[in-house]
Amino acid sequence: MLTVDRVTVTYDRTPAVRDASLEIADGEVLALLGPSGSGKSTLLRAIAGLEPATGAVRWDGDDLAGVPVHRRGFGLVFQDGQLFPHRDVAGNIAFGPRMQGTPPADRERRVAELLDLVGLAGYERRPVTELSGGEAQRVALARALAPRPRLLLLDEPLSGLDAELRESLALDLVGVLRRAKTTTLLVTHDQEEAFTLADRLAVLDDGHVRQSGDVVDVWRAPADERVARFLGVTTVLSGELVDGRVSCPFGSVDLPWAPAGAASSTGAAASTGAASTGTGSRGSGSSGAAVTVGLRPHALRVAADGVPGEVVTRARRRDHTRVTVDVSASVPGVSTVDAVAAMSETVRPGDEVRLALDPDGVAIVG
Ligand code: ADP
Repeated sequence: MLTVDRVTVTYDRTPAVRDASLEIADGEVLALLGPSGSGKSTLLRAIAGLEPATGAVRWDGDDLAGVPVHRRGFGLVFQDGQLFPHRDVAGNIAFGPRMQGTPPADRERRVAELLDLVGLAGYERRPVTELSGGEAQRVALARALAPRPRLLLLDEPLSGLDAELRESLALDLVGVLRRAKTTTLLVTHDQEEAFTLADRLAVLDDGHVRQSGDVVDVWRAPADERVARFLGVTTVLSGELVDGRVSCPFGSVDLPWAPAGAASSTGAAASTGAASTGTGSRGSGSSGAAVTVGLRPHALRVAADGVPGEVVTRARRRDHTRVTVDVSASVPGVSTVDAVAAMSETVRPGDEVRLALDPDGVAIVG
C-alpha cells in the first residue's frame, strides 16, 4: 500500500504540490486527475523519488525518503514511452529483469508473457524504431511491468496518441491492469481516461488534492463547485433533496445514491427559493435539505415535455447534438444552460424547445 503524507514540492519558492495526501491500496488503480499545470506530474515524480519533496512517501508503512528511484520497486511509463532505441522489443522488456539478475531462459519467458499481455505476441525481434505510437506505448508498459513492480506509475501514457487509438488502448489497458493486478497511479487530465481506467480518483487543483474517493462517488458528488466544473458540470443551481429525490428548477429526479448526510441538514448553504419553482417540488421544504445541484450537459435533454427555452447555439457531436438554451424566461436567475438533443432531433438556433431532466447527468455538489 502506498501512502503519500502531506507531500509538498517547491520549485523556485513556488509550491507546485501543496500538502498532498493520498493512499493507494494493493491492486487498486488510482487516477490523479486535474487540469494542466495542477501538479500531477510533479506529485508522480515525487512519489517515484525523482523530485525532492517534504512530507513522506511510504510503502507498507516504510518511509522511502532514503530509497533511490531504482530501488523503490516502482515501474514508470511516460507520455512518450522513452524506449531504448538501440535495443529491440525483447531487449527493452528484458532490461529490468536482467538488472535483477533473472536468468536468460526466465527472461525470455517473461518477455513472451508480457508481449502476450499487451497484445503484441511475436514482436520480440522488432526494432523499436519501427513501432507505431500505440505499439511503442504497449512495449513501454510491458517493460515497466517486466520486473514485477509493486507500484506502476503512469504519466499521461496515452496522451501522445490520436483520439481513436487512445480510446481503444485505454480499454486494452484496463484489461492489462486488471490481469496484472498491479497497484497503479495514473496521471491524466482526461476525465474519460480516468473513468475508464481507475477505481478511485484524486482530483488535483493548484497543487492541492481537492477530493479523493471512489470514481463514481466523486463523479456524483464533487466536493465543491470547482471540482464539479472540472468534472463536466456546466450548470449549478439551488435545489432540495427529500428522501433521495432531488428537485431543482428543471424538475425532480430520484437519486438513490444521494448523500445521506445531506438529507438531514435542513436549510444548509443553498437557497430553496429557486428549487420551489421546480415542477416536482414538495411544499416548502419541511423535511427537505437545501443542496447545490450540478448539471452536466446531458442532464438536460431536449424532449416533448419540460422547461421551455430557446436554442442559442448548436454543435454536432459524434453521437448527439450539444445545444445551449436560453431559459431566462422560465427559470428566474438562470440565463443559458447546456443541454443535449438526440441526433434524430432537428434543432436550430431560434427554435423553442423543452428540456427534461435526466438523473444520469445530475450531481450533488458539496
Ligand atoms: P501537471 O502535470 O498537472 O500538468 P506539473 O506537475 O507538470 O503539472 O506542473 C505543476 C507546476 O509546476 C506548473 O506550474 C509548472 O510550471 C511547474 N513546474 C513543473 N516542473 C517544473 C520544474 N522542473 N521547474 C520549475 N517549475 C516546474
